[in-house]
Amino acid sequence: MKVKVNQDSCIGCGACAAVCENVFELNDEGLSQAKVTEINEKDSQDVRDAADACPTGAIEVEE
Ligand code: SF4
Repeated sequence: MKVKVNQDSCIGCGACAAVCENVFELNDEGLSQAKVTEINEKDSQDVRDAADACPTGAIEVEE
């Protein structure tokens, strides 16, 4: 699984990092970024949950 955060859509609410801190963090601009692009099995459900929790649909998941 791969994941990417669309910087143009992210509003920096922090929900993704709260749901899955292993993968998402807020950068210096206050926007979310993925710390890793290849998601391991252990974090994959949390990444899907974070994508569902994102209010702007900024998280792109590729299964
Ligand atoms: S949940 Fe969505 S809008 Fe909020 S910080 Fe994460 S990517 Fe950005």
